[in-house]
Formats: sequence, structure tokens, C-alpha cells
Amino acid sequence: MHVFARRVAGSLVFNTKPSPLLCLRLPRISRFQPHNLHLQLTAFSRYSTMSVPSHLLADEKAPVCRLEIQPHFDNLSAKEKLYAHHISKASFAGTRVVLRQVSPESEPLFDLILTVARHVENDFSKIVEACNVTEDEKNKFAEFGAQVLANLGNYKSFGDQKFVPRIPEETFTKIASITPEAAKLWEGIKKQVYQISPEGITLLGYPPDHMSAYYPDSPAITQADIEACGETFVKNGVLVEHTRLKQLDDGSFDMLVASEKVGEGSVYETKDGRKIRTVYGDHSKEMKVMADELDGAKKAALNDTQEKMMEEYVKSFREGSLEAHKESQRYWIKDIGPTIETNIGFIETYRDPAGTKAYFEGWVAVVNKERTKVFGKLVERAGDFIPKLPWSKDFEKDKFQKPDFTSLEVLTFNSDGIPAGINIPNYDDIRMTLGFKNVSLGNVLNAKSPSEKVTFIDEKDLPLFERLRGPAFELQVGLHELLGHGSGKLLQETEKGVFNFDKENPPVSPLTGKPVTTYYKVGETWGSVFGATAASYEECRAECVAMYLCPDREILEVFGHTDDTEAAAEDVLYISYLQMARAGLLALEFWDPKTKKWGQAHMRARYSILQCFLSAPDNFVSLDSTTEDHSDLTIHLDRSKIRSHGFKAVEKYLQELHIYKASADVNGGVALYDKMTSVNDTMAKFRDVVMSKKQPRKQFVQANTTLNGDEVTIKEYEATQQGLIQSWLDREDIVGAPPQ
Ligand code: ZN
Repeated sequence: MHVFARRVAGSLVFNTKPSPLLCLRLPRISRFQPHNLHLQLTAFSRYSTMSVPSHLLADEKAPVCRLEIQPHFDNLSAKEKLYAHHISKASFAGTRVVLRQVSPESEPLFDLILTVARHVENDFSKIVEACNVTEDEKNKFAEFGAQVLANLGNYKSFGDQKFVPRIPEETFTKIASITPEAAKLWEGIKKQVYQISPEGITLLGYPPDHMSAYYPDSPAITQADIEACGETFVKNGVLVEHTRLKQLDDGSFDMLVASEKVGEGSVYETKDGRKIRTVYGDHSKEMKVMADELDGAKKAALNDTQEKMMEEYVKSFREGSLEAHKESQRYWIKDIGPTIETNIGFIETYRDPAGTKAYFEGWVAVVNKERTKVFGKLVERAGDFIPKLPWSKDFEKDKFQKPDFTSLEVLTFNSDGIPAGINIPNYDDIRMTLGFKNVSLGNVLNAKSPSEKVTFIDEKDLPLFERLRGPAFELQVGLHELLGHGSGKLLQETEKGVFNFDKENPPVSPLTGKPVTTYYKVGETWGSVFGATAASYEECRAECVAMYLCPDREILEVFGHTDDTEAAAEDVLYISYLQMARAGLLALEFWDPKTKKWGQAHMRARYSILQCFLSAPDNFVSLDSTTEDHSDLTIHLDRSKIRSHGFKAVEKYLQELHIYKASADVNGGVALYDKMTSVNDTMAKFRDVVMSKKQPRKQFVQANTTLNGDEVTIKEYEATQQGLIQSWLDREDIVGAPPQ
């Protein structure tokens, strides 16, 4: 991953890697870990014995969406279905691994929820009488349970924040006593489930101040210990993505390696002489099930590359070998144009405070050939579109690097959350030599919940907004990734005395009409020069490219929008601009009024684009309300002025962003970006209404597949809380019963 937000010891830092391309990320369905940490600590909700800050309470009425897959799955051949089925099973086999990587209470909590659900046959109304609780208490228990299943743990996958039930502990205890098994599970975790102090424990981060399950049974471990081990691993070339670290009583360490194999391996020593033993067999039971299923996938593989890829996965999971996993990724990159796309293993390191150990994820998806063709066409025609951007070729790369870009419909995505797009592998040496793949998760992007409300949009715009937000977002994402992150050049001294531009006659800046005076010196990178501003700034540049190019009729046509199509070109354009303006307003959630800081790269960027729209003359965009509390706040955007006013404002802003970046003008760039993202009193007031209308995160319901003889069948579930719980009840065969 090239740009992500990472929290270290409770404070948010932006970590920027200089790889130029890609991050298909939604504000609400993303791999980003926004902070939203210490906001709203004043709002309390009270129940009988305790007070819990409202941001720590479980979601109420969370929208539930189905990952629509049936029609895509039905189109597969019998062999393709079999291949997908085994990988789906292998992915779900990792459920307990994910739970164990969140918090110690997550796995028993997961079992407890399902034990109760199974006991009442997923009819929670039975709880009311059986446990003598109210209808409302029953609902709150079920809502908490669904959220645990949707996040695979009691910390939110988006934000890493703990959530606790909205019912008092006594009520929870009453419900858990419905069966002896549930009561026993509850007894062991009830304190942890409700624990919210010290405050640090409500966030994932470095122990002991914060929660982290990457350091199990190690109450005394410190950041310094973790760093000392990290140094040793780097020195010895040990890869740790699939490990956890445990500190023993004598101060030495066990590195727990996820593998079917059980046993001990090499011993290392920290600088100060403490031993680190390699211990295989972490999650041994689950790793075996995964390996067995992937062995099944190997037999059903559709080509030689996939067969070899599966073989390496199997080896990796049985032996605990990350070298084998790297080898699987090399085959993955070579598996061009597959019908079934997949990836599985310990991939993303966002949740480990040290940023080195990864959480498990496994996914399998059907390639949407039609939508992939659109991205392909855009890639092919990039050479026509890039010169339209508001800078001369002096500020553009000599050659556009064509990335691989597919659109997928997800059958299974098992991890703590589901992103909207992925750019992997993360192994840097493979990225440099073999490259990577980009995928866009179509049925995640387009997932809608019947109960989801669209806020701040005028009633007269609502039908069009709801109909075209999907196509408009696809247009925005495609342009953002390919022509946004994919465009632009850095003026550099590449080695002493060697320049990638004419040093004697430097390019003339369109901002000043004079030659630029700054450039990147040897060893300097975009990230090192722009520092903490770089990540969000680059997202903003990419979003501006999307806003700048989407009015182009030829581009609208590439995406299939003309005057005669059902999604008419001008309507899609209007919704694209309106959607960006709305995102800019919703972004205020990620601005902390106390520290006046931004916590989410994309959202800060979108806020600045709304400011850019608002700066256009003649009321191009206005934010209107008639009430004192702004509860009826509505965005108005004059669609007749998009090309004449909105586009012009974006052109100026994009040109400034781009030239400052290209010429390493950090003073000009940071001053501009700080100005565009500063929040004045009016906007700060609007934040209150944004917060009051904030909706809980979507929960996804995924299908299950079953193998009967040679035939694979698929079962989908209703987009309801009950459907979500049922889908998990039906996975007991692969997830396994609670450990006794
Ligand atoms: Zn991006």
C-alpha cells in the first residue's frame, strides 16, 4: 500500500510510501484507519450503573447490505465454482485467526453471540420471555452481536475503536444465562467487554496503554521491547507478517508463527541479549483447515499458474513459510485475466502498532468482464486524456505506466472489514520487480442498504442522486486512480549533477510565468519533502483530476454515458459534482474541533474541494439552511454552471497543487493546502449537524457455498440483521465450534 494512516501510541501519523499509484478507497468502506479518536468525549449516555461516552456505544440501526453475487456466480462453469468454493471455505477458516488478532475477548464473544443465536434458532424474540428482558434490551443485544460479527471483534474495523453494548452488564448476564455454555463464556469476558478505562484501552495500539492482541499474554511488554525485537528481525532478515510476539516471565520472547506445523525453530537474540525463540503452530488447527481447502482449490485450478499459486499457499500455511507466500504472490501477479480472482494470507499491517505484523484476510471474487473492459479502455486511452490536464508536458512523465486494473464482484471477503479496492502485494521487492495488481470491488462499491438515508441533498435531487451515485462514483474512482495518481512528474536531480529536466532552462511555471526555482535533490522523495501533508495532498490532487476530467464528453462516453443512455452523460456529471460536494461536507466528521486537526486523508481532500467549489463565483454551490441549528442544511449546486464555474475553479486549484508538487515547492504547497482545509466558524458549526446525522457503518451479509457431490450451490441471505447472523450460523462447519 502506498498511502495509509497509521496510529502510533494513540496519535495519528500519516505514513507515506512513494509508490505513485493507487488506492481505491471509500471514506466508509476502506482500509484506511481514520482516527476520530477523542472526539465527542463530552456526550454521555447513561444506563443504570455506568456512564459510557456515546462514541463507545455499539451502533444502533446499522444499515445492512448484501454483497450481491448470485447472477455472477451462476455464470461460472462447474470447475470455476469448485475453485471459488474451496477458496471461500479457506477464507472463512481464518475467522478465529482474525478474532484472535483483535482482542482476547473477541473470540469468546463471537462464540457467545452465536451460541445464543443457535439456542433460540435465530429468533431473538424468544429471548424476551426466556430471559425476562424488554423488547428494547433484546434489540440492543442483537445489534451489538451483529456488529461483533460484522467486525469480527469488539473493535471497529474502521477506526480501531472499541464498542460496548448499549445494555447494562446485568442485562447481558441475564441473556447469556440462557444456556450454560453461553453463561460460561460470558463469565470469562464480561469485565473486558465493558472495560473502558483507562481510556487508551478503547483503541488498538501499543500495549500496555492500548489494546493489541498481537502481543498475547504479555502484560508487561513495552514499546521498547517490541522495537528491540523488531530490530533483531530486520537485522536477521526475518519476515513477521504472520506472527505474534509473546513475552515470557524471564523477559525473553516467543515469536509465534502461524502454521499447521508445530515445533520450534531458530533462536535470535536482541541487542541487549534477550532470547527470541521461534515457535511454530500458532492457529495450527485453522491453518490446517485452510491448507486442506487450498489443496482442494489446487485440484480445481483453472490453469497452471493458479495450480502453482495454490501449491505455494498450501506450503506457506502448513510450514509457516512466508517465502512460500511470497512465491504465491509472484504467481498471482502472473495470473493475468483470470475469471476468478483471489488472495489470502497475512497481508495488511495497519492494526499492529509496530506496523509489521499483518491481520489475516482471505477473499475470492468473480471478475466482472464488462466493467473491467471500461477500465481497460481508459488505460488504453490515457495517452489522449493526460495532455488535457492543466499543465505542459514539462510537468508530465515521458511515458504512462499502464497498470492492471480489474473490477470484481466479491463472493467472500473474510477479515475485520471489507475495502472498496486493493492494491497488492505489499512485498516491496516483488512490487519493484514484478509489479502489482489493482482491483476494484464492484459489489462493495455499489452495495446499498434499504434503510440507508442520503443526507444534505435537496429532495428534488434525491431520485437522481440515488439512481446515479454508483455510476458517478465509478467514474470518479477510475479517473482518480488511473489518471490522478498515475499522472505527473517530479522534477528531480536523480544523481549528483544529473537532472530529469533541463537545469539550464527550467520549465516555466504556469502559476508565475517564470521558470521554477525548486526541485527534488538527490535522495529526496515526495513523501520526505511534503511530510505529513503528502498523503492527503496527493489524494486531493487525484480527486481534482477526477473532477477536472469528468466533464469531458469523450471520457463520459468511455464509461458508457452519452445523451441517449439511461445514465445520461450530463446527469452523471451533475451527480459526480454533487456527490463530491456532499463528501466535502461529511468530511467534517474527521476534523477534530479541539485540536483543529484532520484525521483522514481522503476526507480532508474532499473538504478542500468543497471549499474550491464554494469559492467559485455566482453562487455555483451554496450550503443553505433556514433553522438556527442548521438541521435542514442542504447543498445546492447549479448544474448549468459546472463547466463555466465549477470546472474553472477546479482547474486553478489542480494546477496549483500539481505545480507545487512537481517542483518540490513545499512552502507554496503546504500553505495552499492548509488554507484550503482550514475550517472557519460557519463550517465548524455545520460540523454539529453532520455529527448529529451521522449514520452507522454498513454491515455486509455474505453468501455461503456448499459442495454436494460435484456440484457447488450458493446460498444468499436477506439484507437484515437476522440474515447476517444466519450466514454466520451456517458457517459453523468451517469456522469450528467454540473451543472447550
Ligand atoms: Zn487515492
